Amino acid sequence: MLIVQKFGGTSVGDLDRIQNVANRVSESKKAGNDVVVVVSAMSGETNKLLGFAKHFSSNPSRADMDMLLSSGERVTASLLSIALNEMGFGAVAMTGRKAGIITTNHHTKARIEEINPHAIQKSLKDSNIVIIAGFQGVNSAGDITTLGRGGSDLSAVAIAGALKADLCEIYTDVDGVFTTDPSINEKAKKIDKISYEEILEMSSLGSKVLQPSAVQTAMINNIPVYVRSTFPEKPGTKI
Ligand code: ADP
Ligand code: ASP
Ligand code: MG
Repeated sequence: MLIVQKFGGTSVGDLDRIQNVANRVSESKKAGNDVVVVVSAMSGETNKLLGFAKHFSSNPSRADMDMLLSSGERVTASLLSIALNEMGFGAVAMTGRKAGIITTNHHTKARIEEINPHAIQKSLKDSNIVIIAGFQGVNSAGDITTLGRGGSDLSAVAIAGALKADLCEIYTDVDGVFTTDPSINEKAKKIDKISYEEILEMSSLGSKVLQPSAVQTAMINNIPVYVRSTFPEKPGTKI
């Protein structure tokens, strides 16, 4: 199988957690899959960088913000690659640009226009685990753009579509999609299976579990998405 696995901020929140992700990814590779990994920045990192910019200006240029914010995802992608190589796996870390992600020019909230997955495919063919910095692409002029808060979900789903992957797994800090936010309502129940339409409504109403444009992309391209926890081996939610 060709699997795209996305790990959110809490899943890569410290160095031990990045090692935990490396272990999980290596299990999928050892099971005989082609594995593409999309990572978020370490949790808190994007907000920290936003705060740094605010220290200097209340109105920084959006192009500068994209240069700044995209760096968080590059840190985790490269550290994960370093960890996997140390474990004896071939792994290659890529920026959004190298992964062929071309977006609109709308800095800080760009939409993906197309993905040229050639470099990813070539690296997979050479039996590498391909690790892609989420949340970012480049516009037609080659400037770095970002995809809006939570945008690594969109990176993962769009890459899964471009590669015609068999599955897009979204690893996060809860066991799957719940009836309401489990961090607020302890009566929230985990849902085993949910339609694209229902999850789209949920995410449009502000549930963080999946970014709305990621759901739209999955729905339009009929990409199977599986939301599950990074930590225990428990069943998640099939979309
Ligand atoms: P990640 O860093 O993995 O992208 P996010 O913080 O963006 O994670 O999204 C996961 C969070 O979404 C959960 O910790 C949870 O508090 C919140 N959330 C809100 N609504 C829901 C829901 N209906 N089901 C699951 N999680 C939800
Ligand atoms: N790091 C970005 C954010 O915090 C993107 C993401 O995590 O998906 O919004
Ligand atoms: Mg998120």
